[in-house]
Parts: sequence; C-alpha cells; structure tokens
Amino acid sequence: MTINEKPVSSSPALVDPFGRQVTYLRVSVTDRCDFRCVYCMSEHMTFLPKPEILTLEELDRLCTAFIHQGVRRLRLTGGEPLVRRDVMTLIRNLGRHLDSGALDELTITTNGSQLARYADDLYAAGIRRINVSLDTLNEGLFADITRWGRLPQVLDGIRAAQKAGLQIKINTVALRGINEAEIPSLIEWAHGEGHDLTLIETMPLGEIDGDRSDQYLPLSKVRADLESRWTLIDLPERTGGPARYVRIEETGGKLGLITPLTHNFCESCNRVRLTCTGTLFMCLGQDDAADLRAPLRASSDDALLNAAIAEAIGRKPKGHDFIIDRDRPQPALSRHMSQTGG
Ligand code: SAM
Ligand code: SF4
Repeated sequence: MTINEKPVSSSPALVDPFGRQVTYLRVSVTDRCDFRCVYCMSEHMTFLPKPEILTLEELDRLCTAFIHQGVRRLRLTGGEPLVRRDVMTLIRNLGRHLDSGALDELTITTNGSQLARYADDLYAAGIRRINVSLDTLNEGLFADITRWGRLPQVLDGIRAAQKAGLQIKINTVALRGINEAEIPSLIEWAHGEGHDLTLIETMPLGEIDGDRSDQYLPLSKVRADLESRWTLIDLPERTGGPARYVRIEETGGKLGLITPLTHNFCESCNRVRLTCTGTLFMCLGQDDAADLRAPLRASSDDALLNAAIAEAIGRKPKGHDFIIDRDRPQPALSRHMSQTGG
C-alpha cells in the first residue's frame, strides 16, 4: 500500500467474481436536463414518471448503504444533477460521510449551466473537484451541439466554480468534423485556465436523432494529431476507469483520454452506476442490471437492500461489448447516457 492509499472500510467489501473491489459509485440523480446534446439525447425526450424516481431520502439511503460496504468515492451525475429540485439537500447530507471519513471524495459531473448559482454551496458541502462538460468555445457551435445551452452561462459558471475554490476538469466529447479542429485550442484554453481536460470518445448509448458513426472520432487519431504539435508524456496514473493520462510538455497541463470502446481498462474496473430509479448497472457497456428500488422500498431495514447489492455485484461482468459501425444502425445499448450518467 502506498502512503496515499487509505485502508478500505472495515465493513464487508464489495468484491466481484473477478476479484475487483467496488469502491466507486456513480449516481444519476435525475434523467432530466436543461440541454439536449446531440450525442446524448434526442430533441424530444420522454422522461420518467415521478413515482419511478427515487426521492432524495431514498437516494441518500442507497448511497449510504454502498458507503457502508466500502464505496469510497461518489460521483453525482445525471441528466443534469443541478436541475434536480433541492439537490443541494442531498449533497449537503452526503457531505456527512466526508466529515466522518467514510467517504474520500464526493464529486459531480455537470453541464455547468447552474454552477453560478451553486458553486459556493457545493464547496461548503465538501465538494472539492467537479467535472464540467464543454465541447467547444464557439458560441454558435455550442448552441448547435447542446441544442438548448448557452455558452456564456456555462463560462460564467466555470468562473464562479473557480472562484469558489473548486478544482475543475473539463470533459470534451471528441466529435468528428464538429469540434475536431478546435481540440488543440480547447486544450490550450483549459490548461491556460488551470483546468485539466479529458477527451471522450462517443459511445453508442441510446437513440439519438442522427447517425453516430458520423460523429465517431477515434482518440487514437486525435492523439496522433496532438503528437505532431506537442510532446505528450504518458503518466502512470490509473483511476480504475477507462481514462489514460498524459502531460503535455508545452502547456504543462494534464490531458485525459477516455476510450470506452477499448477493453484495456475492464480488468481494473472499480465502479458501478446507479440510475435515479434505483437500477444498478454493473457495467456501462452491458444491459444487465439489478433493481434496488424494490428492496429499498420493501422495508426500512437495509437487510434486503444489502443482499440485493451483494447479489448484483456477484453478477458484475468481466467486460463490455461496444461496437459502432455503419452496418449496425441501432445503438449497442438502448438506454441513454443521461440514464446512467456516463
Ligand atoms: N449533464 C451532465 C454533463 O453533461 O456533464 C452530466 C451527465 S452527462 C450524461 C455525463 C457525460 O457524458 C458528459 O461529459 C457528456 O458529454 C457525456 N456523454 C453523453 N452522451 C455520451 C455519448 N453517447 N458518448 C460519450 N459521452 C457521452
Ligand atoms: Fe444533458 Fe449532459 Fe446529456 Fe448534454 S450530455 S444532454 S448536458 S445529460
């Protein structure tokens, strides 16, 4: 164990059949969003009826059950987490697990639209790092990609978050022929502002209004282009997810490359994803899921819930099965990223 590693919780750990310990939970707190990004949603989405959505108290209970079983990092996502009504109540309450030391980190992934309003509260609740999704700095293109978003609002949000003391990582989906040419200047901007930036390959999740194979831009190509301009130094850092990191010598900043279509990370996968209806996905790239809402609602005692969690982790698959190609027009998985939150 290195100095920075904390011993895992003394409660029974969640270990899957391949010996991987689940220490990271991503929770989608809502399927709704104030944007309609072209790679994520269709313009006319049907959202879930309210009774199906877990209440904030139920979300807290579920997260707490996972924390008691060894989850050390929690990321809230969506849809857009900050459009859920009273979401700050949930975040503040979850902050108690940071205070007690049961949780190492509480983070969110956001589109940034509501950050100007919430940045100070997020910091006060114990959040120190956030991911903000931003695919372009061109106002017109931003409106085209997000359909309903406004770039100045997001940039104001990022500034507010920085002022509040939050460390910001920019997430950028690499889109062929759309923001492809702008990627180097986005990286220069992010690194100049003191933010790391991570590039993400598009994933075939959910019906959208276009052809995904038109959007797909392999990061191997992006990396080759960047290497013709800058010196990229591989970093040994691993997070248990699909990201690989490099340092760009000329900008001094860190660049992440998320290639979920490769299998090179599954063996160290430490994460599971929970939807706002209480469905647990053990792998982002597989349809198998476990319903935790029924055991949660069946009793106020956590015994049924804990048993359901243990059973689900026992089914965590070895790896995923993503393919994007022109001969297969259907998405590999029918659910949207906004359901599981990425
Ligand atoms: N609304 C928040 C946001 O945009 O950051 C959180 C949820 S969003 C689903 C999480 C991340 O998934 C975003 O960075 C988004 O760009 C990414 N994403 C959405 N659909 C995707 C897809 N089909 N392929 C790859 N990334 C996707
Ligand atoms: Fe909303 Fe995030 Fe999906 Fe864009 S990527 S539509 S901001 S959930």
